[in-house]
Amino acid sequence: MEKGPSPFEAVLKQIDMVAEKLKLDPSTVEKIKHPRKIVIVSVPIKMDDGRIKVFTGYRVQFDMARGPYKGGIRYHPNVDLDEIKALAAWMTWKCAVMDIPYGGAKGGITCNPKEMSKGELERLTRKYTAMLLDEIGPYKDVPAPDVYTDAQTMVWIMDTYSQFKGYLVPEVVTGKPVELGGSEGREEATGRGIAICAREAAKHLGIDLKGARVAVQGFGNVGKAVAKLLYEMGCKIIAVSDSRGGIYRADGLNLPAVIEHKLKAGQLSSFEGCEGITNEELLELECEVLVPAALENQITEANADRIRAKIVVEGANGPSTPGARQIMQERGIFVVPDILANGGGVTVSYFEWTQNLHREHWTEEEVNRKLEEKMVRAFDNVLEVAKKHNVSMADAAYILAISRVKDAHEKLGLWP
Ligand code: NAD
Repeated sequence: MEKGPSPFEAVLKQIDMVAEKLKLDPSTVEKIKHPRKIVIVSVPIKMDDGRIKVFTGYRVQFDMARGPYKGGIRYHPNVDLDEIKALAAWMTWKCAVMDIPYGGAKGGITCNPKEMSKGELERLTRKYTAMLLDEIGPYKDVPAPDVYTDAQTMVWIMDTYSQFKGYLVPEVVTGKPVELGGSEGREEATGRGIAICAREAAKHLGIDLKGARVAVQGFGNVGKAVAKLLYEMGCKIIAVSDSRGGIYRADGLNLPAVIEHKLKAGQLSSFEGCEGITNEELLELECEVLVPAALENQITEANADRIRAKIVVEGANGPSTPGARQIMQERGIFVVPDILANGGGVTVSYFEWTQNLHREHWTEEEVNRKLEEKMVRAFDNVLEVAKKHNVSMADAAYILAISRVKDAHEKLGLWP
């Protein structure tokens, strides 16, 4: 994986690019370049062997001009302040592109959850929540799952917060299990949004999705859902992969069978009747749609000139480096950037929060219909900006997002 510039340096460069393009007032730019609040906590917990260990936890609240802070919590050994600051800024832009009434935030704990027991993870999550009790809240800052945190983690946060309040507060987090206030359709929401973007991009370019060749890197929550939904739309899924490598079949994979196999075998490579393929080879396949849905920095300046897809829909966060995006753009590849493409997840999180606040439970059809509307509108808005300024979809998404946040700041003014 290419080690690019620091993620937060990339954020500042994106803001500068937009400021220059839109000739923004330097005072407003100065205001949106700085996270509003950074909280760092030392979280002591008792490990299973009786030792006390102290973990570093972060919550970065980047911007709240458009609504309460919103963003996931990541548990990973590489979590550091620079990364969390960048992710918090990207959440701000993502919520603005999707036009949902949230600001942006991100949290994380530097830890290796693969080496921790469930009990240790529960104690870590509850203690971290207790230490952030005054920072989070349904109208203040609403966390969600991210890398190596899940619906169970959200339940621990909800329960800890609720215990302190003395009543159940489901709207303090999103990404909960359906039985405890989670939304129908949340699990597939990110994949559904990506599939909608692929469909809209194909429509824009005059490509027929029926029989279109699709390659998907990553077969987790996001990759599996995208592959399934594009298969149902009539696409030919020619390759999919997970961390161990991928499988390829020129005539298209039998996707339901692949999903069943992955569920049983835990990996893809032993699926019969197709060729093995590496993750690098998958990215370079000739196809209509490529969806990198695994990790960041997969398409870099080293391989961008070998990408042969007509459309790249960025399912993961940051799967292409800025330099790689530029190369693909110059080569006529239509790239749908991450802050638009994977915005379906936070959109359905917003639906979950809305349902919780009103003590409602929407059907899956209703959730999917509302998501469809939001995704198509966001895609059209970004495309309009791209045409108006004659820029790529990626630059257009940043222009749209940052100008929405800037508008909110200008209208709010500065007090005192
Ligand atoms: P996940 O953990 O469920 O799945 C990740 C997948 O990537 C797995 O199939 C794993 O085997 C595969 N993988 C890991 N290392 C790989 C490698 N070196 N090469 C190829 N594949 C590899 O995660 P997810 O929730 O599907 O998230 C994937 C990406 O989408 C992440 O960048 C995440 O931040 C982003 N994202 C997720 C959501 C969401 O709702 N889950 C929302 C927005 C963005």
